[in-house]
Parts: sequence; C-alpha cells; structure tokens
Amino acid sequence: MEMYIDPHLHAVSRTTDDYEAMRKAGVVAIIEPAFWLGQPRTEVGSFKDYFSTLVGWERFRAKQFGIVHYCTIGLNSKEANNEALAEEVMELLPLYATKEGVVAIGEIGYDDQTAAEDKYYRLQLELAKEVELPVLIHTPHRDKKKGTTRSMDVSEEHGLPPHMVIVDHNNEETVKEVLDRGYWAAFTIYPHTKMGSNRMVEIVKKYGPERIIVDSAADWGISDPLAVPKTAALMRKHGIPEEHIRMTCYQNALTAYSQSGQMDESDWLNPEPIDQRLKHAGNSVLRGGQTPRVEGPSDYVEN
Ligand SMILES: [Zn+2]
Repeated sequence: MEMYIDPHLHAVSRTTDDYEAMRKAGVVAIIEPAFWLGQPRTEVGSFKDYFSTLVGWERFRAKQFGIVHYCTIGLNSKEANNEALAEEVMELLPLYATKEGVVAIGEIGYDDQTAAEDKYYRLQLELAKEVELPVLIHTPHRDKKKGTTRSMDVSEEHGLPPHMVIVDHNNEETVKEVLDRGYWAAFTIYPHTKMGSNRMVEIVKKYGPERIIVDSAADWGISDPLAVPKTAALMRKHGIPEEHIRMTCYQNALTAYSQSGQMDESDWLNPEPIDQRLKHAGNSVLRGGQTPRVEGPSDYVEN
C-alpha cells in the first residue's frame, strides 16, 4: 500500500470521517499549520487555546484513527494586522514552538502585504532561527507573484537558508523562481479552482519531482482532505514514474520538515496500536455506546 503525507491540512475543521477516509487512502501523517479560523480572534486566550489544541487534542484525535499529527506554530498574516493582539501572540509563540511535534514556524508571510504583516513576518523569521525550525510560508492569493518574490527576498534578508523554507500555495507563475532559488515549492490542490490535480500533473511533468510538495490545505472552506492521494492517483494514470509520485506526495515533505528534529518515519512505520479506549484529559473520540477500535497488542485494562 502506498504511503502519503499531507503536509498542510487544518484538521480542527475536519471530521473523524475525514481521518478515516484519509487513513484508508494511505495518508500516514499530516502537518497542521496554525492559521486563522475564518472568524478573527479578539483575545490572546483564543490563540493560546488554539495552539494547545494543535499540540494536544488534535494530535491525540488523529492518532485514534492511525494518523500521525504534527503542526506548525505561528501568527498568520491576516491576523497580524490586529497589532495590539499580534504583540500578545508573539509572546506566546516561543512557548509553543518548542513543544513536541512542532515541525516549523508557520504559516506566516503576506496576505494584503501591509506594513504590519511585514513586521510580524520578519519577527517570526527571527524566531524560526532562534528555535532552529523550518519556516512554512503562506503566499498571498492576491498579487501572488510579487508576494512570493518578496517573501523569499525578506527571508534571505534575515539569513534563512532556502532549504529551511517551504513556500506554499505556488502556481505556474511562481514555481520556477521558487525552485531556481533553492526553496521547497509546495502546491495546494483546491477542488474546482485553477490549481487542481490536472495542473499539478503538468507541473511535475515539466519540473520533475525535486523539492516539489503536494498538499490539500483542507480546512473549513471548500477543500478536499483526499487531495494528496487523489493527485497521486492522477499522476499514476498519466504515467508519471512511481518514484516521482513518492517524492512529491511523501518523501519531500518528510525531508523538509524532519529538519525540525521532530518528525521521523519510524513514527508511523512502528506505530503504537490504535486504542480508542484511551482518553485525552478525560475526553474520548467516542460517543455513548460506540465500540472502540482496538488494534494490536495493548495492555490496557478496562476498569
Ligand atoms: Zn493553510
């Protein structure tokens, strides 16, 4: 069975059905970048609880369905524009960036490319250097080409080596420069949009598999948590070599994010057995009367 990594997925917005379907389709590990929630936050406590969810409950929940969960910690560009709140969030970041399973600072970068966004992007690049983590860059959806170039320029100003930086949400307009400058080029496959699976196949045909990463960025919007396995299947259908599929849908993400020292293949190759009788801070993924899934040896004693 093929193994896939989806290195960009907002699991807090997804259901257990999604986790089950992803595992069935071969997704063994996901990375959940810290981002905004659609509704702007008004209190620093909301960020604190959100970050705690990413390193705690969501990590537990994924494991209950056989998926290893990692995350990135950061202040997203959109909410960086609330400067009073951004200041408070910046103070939280170092506490969370060093927790288990945090594989990068992200997703950070530009949205509207404002002065405030620039300020907090730079501060977080400095934080990434300090805690020796890779950086996940969210490139803007508007004025993408300029925003992507600027993201890399600023990252270089702060002395980050390109191999420590994953630039996400690329398209045909940005990919060449990102690869030429030595960065990881990630592609978010959005259903019913320009950047769909078909165009991804063409990009891999044209540029090859080096440093190219496929992800779903599935969240609370119209998105597909199976985008990575589906794109892999489409590549297969179009005769893309198996090794290129493995690199773009598995290995490159692993190589890029394992630079954090927090992600290792053995995490899913030698997994702890699934045991849905377990609880996280007293809370279960089960609802009344449901039969827990228990796989493999377990010395858990029901009491
Ligand atoms: Zn995202």
